[in-house]
Amino acid sequence: MAAPEPMPSAGPAHAFVTDGFGDVAAGCPFMPVFGPPQVMFARGRGTELWDVDDKRYLDFLCGLAVTSLGHANPAVTATIAAQADTLLHVSNLFANDAAARAAVELVALLAEATGEQGQVFFCNSGAEANEAAIKLARKFGGRGRHVVVSALGSFHGRTLASLAATGQPAKHEPFQPMPEGFRHVAYDDLAALEAAIDPSVSAVLLETVQGEGGVVPAGDEYLRAVRSLCDERGLLMMVDEVQTGFCRTGRWFGFQHSGVVPDVVTMAKGMGNGFPVGAVWARREIAAVFRPGDHGSTYSGTALAAAVVSTVIAEMRRIDAAGLAASRGARLRAGLEALPGVAAVRGQGLLLAAELADGRDAKSAYTELLDRGLVTNAVTATALRLAPPLTVSEAEIDEALALLREVLS
Ligand code: PLP
Repeated sequence: MAAPEPMPSAGPAHAFVTDGFGDVAAGCPFMPVFGPPQVMFARGRGTELWDVDDKRYLDFLCGLAVTSLGHANPAVTATIAAQADTLLHVSNLFANDAAARAAVELVALLAEATGEQGQVFFCNSGAEANEAAIKLARKFGGRGRHVVVSALGSFHGRTLASLAATGQPAKHEPFQPMPEGFRHVAYDDLAALEAAIDPSVSAVLLETVQGEGGVVPAGDEYLRAVRSLCDERGLLMMVDEVQTGFCRTGRWFGFQHSGVVPDVVTMAKGMGNGFPVGAVWARREIAAVFRPGDHGSTYSGTALAAAVVSTVIAEMRRIDAAGLAASRGARLRAGLEALPGVAAVRGQGLLLAAELADGRDAKSAYTELLDRGLVTNAVTATALRLAPPLTVSEAEIDEALALLREVLS
């Protein structure tokens, strides 16, 4: 596919990127919450990205597992343009047909994946989806039975409650005291989970693959045992599919690999292909604990976001994105396993991490790969995360593997 026309160069207005990112004195307009970026991108198409100097990159990160149908996906672009020219937003004082359609399609998708009828609430991000799930768990449990148990190493977002659920104590430290009602246990460890459950617990919140935590899948046996435990104790099993959902792991949702049926599913990232949107789904009788006024968002089900969700679902069905993630993921995994500098590969589908051999520093590997035009991410100190679009071609996988071989050998 032909590269899109370059945009005018960034120019001196963007000098803060190199001269002092996050630094007010250097004229940086962004709050200093992100580290200094190494590249300023200007445009993308499919798996490819171009920076402001028109250098080409292969995007094997997808904006953190988001642009699963590729950059500037024609169907998504056409939907955004058409919906923007039709209706953007009316608020939840009214219904809009784009949201009604997207909700019906999402409920149908979850019914296929779970065999259960449910309801959805649309929001704008993964953290918001988890925030809604946490509120649902509290309402479900009732006063005194409000604790959500999640896993150490998990990532559930940056709002106060989703951060409290996130099992990374270092991220809590600057914001203590954290909201009450969260408990963390070792991941993939049933005994630890059992020991943490008492009458104050209403729900368990888990990722099927810990994405930010290093691309660490939970065992299928563990997930099935968690389901049984939740059934025995009357707890909600809530699965955070923000990173794993929408075909990333080779199934529509990560929980499908183990065959468990969760009570609540949160999603975002891939469901908008870069357009900010998220959702929480719950089985009907659980969703029914919410009453009017219990939750909301100005932008819940806003027409533009909803139209994008419908198109992403349709496109992913049309191209069998889950099948592509499985087959292309197998090719990428096999290629990575054959690289001399890779000690081990973990993950599912096209959400993979390569553990580098001999304790090689992943940050330096990431930087060298970026210099050569391959976008990855040092997900831990010694592992690179690879999450290309599900539409990545075999030739692009081979090109990326050749670059990885150069850097890691
Ligand atoms: N949950 C998981 C599993 C994630 O990976 C992320 C983001 O990386 C989030 C929640 C938070 O999503 P967002 O950044 O859209 O708020």
